[in-house]
Amino acid sequence: MMNRTLWTGVVLISGCLRAAPGEQTASATGPWTGQARIAWFERCLVGMEVGPTGAQSGSDPSDVGYASRFDGREVVRNAAAAHAEYLVIWARDGEYAYYDSRVQPKCPGLGSRDVLRETIEEARQRRLPVIAYCVLQYPTQTLREHPDWTMLDAEGKRMHPRVCFNSPYAAYVEKMLAEMLGYGIDGFHLDMVDQGFGPPYGCWCDNCRRLFEKEYGRPMPKGVSWDEDWDRMLELRYDSSAGFEKRLREYVRSVNPSATVDFNYHGSPPFSWETGQRPVQHAHIGDFVTGETGVWGFSALGVGLSAEFLAATKPGAIFQVAMQRGVRMYHDQTTRPLNDIRWELLTLLAHGARVTMVDKTGYDGWLDPVAYERIGAAFEEALAKRGHFGQKPVQEVGIYYSSRTRDWYGREKPADYQQSFNGMHKALTYEHIPCGVILDENATVERLRRFPVVCLANTGIVSLVEADLFRRYLEDGGNLLITGLTGSLDRFGRPLKESSFADLIGATPVGKLDSLDNHVRLPAGGDEDAGRLRGGIPAGWPLLVKGPALIYKPTTAAAVGELMRPHRTVRQKQGKEGTEWPMSADAPVGPAVLVNRFGKGRVVTFACSPDFATASEHHIVEARKLLGHAVRLLNPAPVVEVTAPTHVEAVVTEDAAGRTLRVHLLGYLSPPACTPAKDRPYVLASMIEDAPLYRASIRVRRPLRQVRAWNPTTNIKRQDEVVVATVNDIHEILVIEY
Ligand SMILES: [Zn+2]
Repeated sequence: MMNRTLWTGVVLISGCLRAAPGEQTASATGPWTGQARIAWFERCLVGMEVGPTGAQSGSDPSDVGYASRFDGREVVRNAAAAHAEYLVIWARDGEYAYYDSRVQPKCPGLGSRDVLRETIEEARQRRLPVIAYCVLQYPTQTLREHPDWTMLDAEGKRMHPRVCFNSPYAAYVEKMLAEMLGYGIDGFHLDMVDQGFGPPYGCWCDNCRRLFEKEYGRPMPKGVSWDEDWDRMLELRYDSSAGFEKRLREYVRSVNPSATVDFNYHGSPPFSWETGQRPVQHAHIGDFVTGETGVWGFSALGVGLSAEFLAATKPGAIFQVAMQRGVRMYHDQTTRPLNDIRWELLTLLAHGARVTMVDKTGYDGWLDPVAYERIGAAFEEALAKRGHFGQKPVQEVGIYYSSRTRDWYGREKPADYQQSFNGMHKALTYEHIPCGVILDENATVERLRRFPVVCLANTGIVSLVEADLFRRYLEDGGNLLITGLTGSLDRFGRPLKESSFADLIGATPVGKLDSLDNHVRLPAGGDEDAGRLRGGIPAGWPLLVKGPALIYKPTTAAAVGELMRPHRTVRQKQGKEGTEWPMSADAPVGPAVLVNRFGKGRVVTFACSPDFATASEHHIVEARKLLGHAVRLLNPAPVVEVTAPTHVEAVVTEDAAGRTLRVHLLGYLSPPACTPAKDRPYVLASMIEDAPLYRASIRVRRPLRQVRAWNPTTNIKRQDEVVVATVNDIHEILVIEY
């Protein structure tokens, strides 16, 4: 829980560092003397980002109505009233500065006003940390003045409005950062350092060419070649983003060492190499990692997954996620119902994130009072529950994420890989198996050991170093769950003649099905493992498991069930008809599942891809159940085992010193949607209006002392080690003392 006295003292220090005339300096004594300084992002749980609406797609300088009422004082008052603990204020975008800048024109509608100054003056009275929001990528106005700083595609064409991070733009940005630091801000939110979200790709400018030749002693590839030269090009792109970020960070530190810097992160799915960010390399160049989420752009399941992904970039570090109050997209001038806001906010907090709520004002800078009322209610609840967030996660499964597979198997269709990653997360969430993420760049055997089961979802490319890591994890008693093409590709994503992985799996891949509409069939009977894998799935029933599949020949593994190739019509064989729509099962071609012992551990390998299937348009429930059954085979007695409806997500944490487990239950109740006006039948989820009413049972394999629920309306019944809770809310916390 937050210590109010400490908080006040710490803020005073921060205030003193940016002392106004007549104020105390940092060396002054006070109640905070001797206490370690805690940065705003370390102590704050929730905050707001506020920026205007009307210049996001360009602006005409005669548009003086735009942002004319965008008032820093009003923003601070409203954010503070909504219980925001910090404020990110819009100070610079692609078109304008919102303060008196000598570098970039000020927004004409402001007249003589200076939003940054208004914000700082009002925030100081309230001891509210102020972070300046500053656009980096897509600087349209700057590129009109300096068109030669624009990224170039492979043909040498300018890719307006993308800026090259190796151009003199960095020095230009530094001038603006210096101006803003002069106001005494507490830090910067720098948005964004992507290199685009799809084709065309850059950058082939003279600066970039020179850097490539200096580093590699050879000319740049002529285009996207997916060979050794393109591998070097990807490195140059990654290093360009990282170099730009580091330069700005160092610059800010040189001017004001206590000002923080954070960069909007684009290293997590659905983003790929195109943005120029790698999951770990670009996460913590600033003081902490901060990313975005929201059903509008990242799916409902993406909320918890994004949080876990960011957490994995530096285990134990603080991470922040931004969500927004609008229904569909930033600037859309809509306001979500309170329960919809609560669900997303509390999901992020339960996963251990700190949260920034983004508000885009009305055209003239108007602040929607209903939005602030709802944000205030949601933040008040978050702060009241503060002591229940941030404990150590208790997770059964670590889903491995391979950036090399993203880049070289996914290539320009990253979803081919990420669909399996997403599907694995979806399956585990539906089955209430708490999971985290393991990233290839910072994976260690110690990190793997934190999870009873590690899952390689269609991880096509597994290096020898990685294979050795998994071997050591298994030797110590770890368990692997493997699907799809895992370990069957070389570092450039081409099929390997021999898998580096065959000894772990206990089988040799002898071929790959060229179809995705593959089926599996599990027999009645068999040994205990076969029975566990099948569970309640009808015996002998060919079920569609859409996704890539390998044909295996077992060596040491026990084979369970059959993998079946699909039928093909004569016209399909002639290539006159597509195969996107699934066809029925034809003959068996190999085993469906392999169960192998390795060291003290076990490996369950699916020849097919139930994870890919689960995230596909042809998801059948039984395909997903296979994954839940496999986890239970590998880890039969988890500390906490949750049974609840599929629309309820469970997050489990532990405070070992306090001998307390917490089970967060998050109910996602989206009512049915109607036919959309376009892109039928692809509907987005409807807003959550009602609190769900459901029953969850939680088996705790610890001697239970006491169980409490946050909500007084939650009904709890205990029978030995099982707790049954009937919950009627978006979020419930069961506090279990043992
Ligand atoms: Zn360039």
